[in-house]
Amino acid sequence: MKTVASEIPTLQTKMSETSTAAFLPFSKPTISPAAIAEVVACLESGWITTGPRTKQFETMLRDYLHAPCALTCSSATAGLLMTMIALDLQPGDEVITTAMTFAATLNSIVLAGGKPVLVDVEPHTYNLEVKHLEAAITPRTRAILPVHFAGLPVDLDFIHALARKYGLRVIEDAAHAIGAEYKGRRIGSFGDTQVFSFHPNKNMTTGEGGCVTTTDRAMEKRITLLRFHGIDREAWARFSKAGSSHYEIALPGYKFNFMDIQAALGIHQLPALDGFIDRRTTLVRRYYEKLADWPELTLPGKVSYEHRHAWHLFAPLINPDAAGTDRDGFMAAMKERNIGTGLHYQAVHLSPYYRDQFGFQRGDFPNAEAISDRVVSLPLFPTMTEADQDRVIETMADIFKRD
Ligand SMILES: *Cc1c(COP(=O)(O)O)cnc(C)c1O
Repeated sequence: MKTVASEIPTLQTKMSETSTAAFLPFSKPTISPAAIAEVVACLESGWITTGPRTKQFETMLRDYLHAPCALTCSSATAGLLMTMIALDLQPGDEVITTAMTFAATLNSIVLAGGKPVLVDVEPHTYNLEVKHLEAAITPRTRAILPVHFAGLPVDLDFIHALARKYGLRVIEDAAHAIGAEYKGRRIGSFGDTQVFSFHPNKNMTTGEGGCVTTTDRAMEKRITLLRFHGIDREAWARFSKAGSSHYEIALPGYKFNFMDIQAALGIHQLPALDGFIDRRTTLVRRYYEKLADWPELTLPGKVSYEHRHAWHLFAPLINPDAAGTDRDGFMAAMKERNIGTGLHYQAVHLSPYYRDQFGFQRGDFPNAEAISDRVVSLPLFPTMTEADQDRVIETMADIFKRD
């Protein structure tokens, strides 16, 4: 009792010392005064839903991505669902995806009536292990749905070659990957179909929002219909010169359209994106430098092909034996010291629904499970200062009891 009591004041001093520093989030959007003014101008214009600013933003996206079309929608989740619906999956049809992703990737397959077939990931990039793909292909396979984890492009040449061989579609979950490049080509400028996210945690934001790019005209047409009630104004225009208020329903669609209020943000976010990624890259280089050879951590690994990493996340693994704490303990200790961290991701296949419905169990995808148990996303956002980052690193050293 005596020892404990005498320790209390020191502990309290220490706590109050550290907690005076403002909370440092793991992610934070950078919204310029010009973007805020644009939102206000949009609100004052009288046109706040899909309209001229959305059109302008889509043109800007097409130019930036070097994409044949850029179809905005309410979120990447909506975009993924629409691409899966557009595949017309029949009961028993399979879509191969990664065991290390956000739930939305798998949910979109299931909601469109398909069966998710998972492939384990590489232990150090968390991207799907492409050499396992071929073994996962069956006569029921319709598509491959890779994720560019943290903005590191997967080996698309390998995947496209396999897709050609077996006649499969390739839908990229590019939620992390706007601005990323694979062998000198921007993600979204080539291949089949891609889905980007503008959620506030992502590299650029429109509040909520997403975008589908595709080189396939049929997919473009389907997404255009699906995102707004299935309304086909062009079809009507072909038959009638009468008022534009007439329309036809080509198919039962969703209400997944993008608002001009969102576009007002996007119009100013997109020109800033390369600067955001450069700043993220600088901070990541510093993390690599300063955390090199820490036995408490395993830092994300590299790939040999040419690419531009979008650095949406910097997510090392905690080595509990060396760290003296597991990942959850580490996250709690950081939070206690006013530093936010993120968990990307918990292995989706171990969630009750996926376990029960598809019979997944622990041991099925050992690399994804090890990442799920040990991964932590450290603070990383464009306006984070070197001093903020040093505080993160010093706090980690303190938690790990390094001298
Ligand atoms: C964020 C994210 C999504 C969903 O994006 P929303 O725009 O929030 O719907 C899908 N897949 C991955 C891998 C993501 O990180």
